[in-house]
Amino acid sequence: MNCPRCSGFMIPESFQDLQSDTGTLSFCGYRCMSCGEIVDPQIASNRKHRPHLQARNRKLMSH
Ligand SMILES: [Zn+2]
Repeated sequence: MNCPRCSGFMIPESFQDLQSDTGTLSFCGYRCMSCGEIVDPQIASNRKHRPHLQARNRKLMSH
């Protein structure tokens, strides 16, 4: 899989979302080794319903 932003190499990774309303939520996605872009199939499908996604992504990338 290649990064949609920079076409860099992406590695599969699991993330933990402590901000979830249901408590700890872990999900699998891909992280770009070049620019740090995170792609998650589940979030991508919900993107139109979650306008605050960008802020959450930045928080995840700081880990
Ligand atoms: Zn990238």
